[in-house]
Amino acid sequence: MHEMGIAEELVKIAMDAIPGDMTDPKVEILNLRIGKLASVVEHSLTFCFEIITKDTPLENARLVIESVPVKICCKVCHQEWEVDSPMFKCPDCEIGEVEMICGREIEITSIELADEKA
Ligand SMILES: [Zn+2]
Repeated sequence: MHEMGIAEELVKIAMDAIPGDMTDPKVEILNLRIGKLASVVEHSLTFCFEIITKDTPLENARLVIESVPVKICCKVCHQEWEVDSPMFKCPDCEIGEVEMICGREIEITSIELADEKA
């Protein structure tokens, strides 16, 4: 289950992003962008995330996942398409090699912290 490694990576990034001078910080929402080709199973990721964030500022944080479609671009005719699976040849001119523009990313777009308690 490679979701565990991804969850660990996300936790590391999120922890680094929390300002060090906050007392008892709590993360409410973690906004993520995950490419369709990253082959991440959302509920597995959520499950792993819940396990490893126990007793950390990320405990009970909600993962909001935006799914990023796979997009390719032809190096010859420069057209762009959204595809369901990786392609290596241009579907239009059939000569050009294609380049994947997005679809494999796993990134945190923003972290929402709960208001500091007075
Ligand atoms: Zn082309």
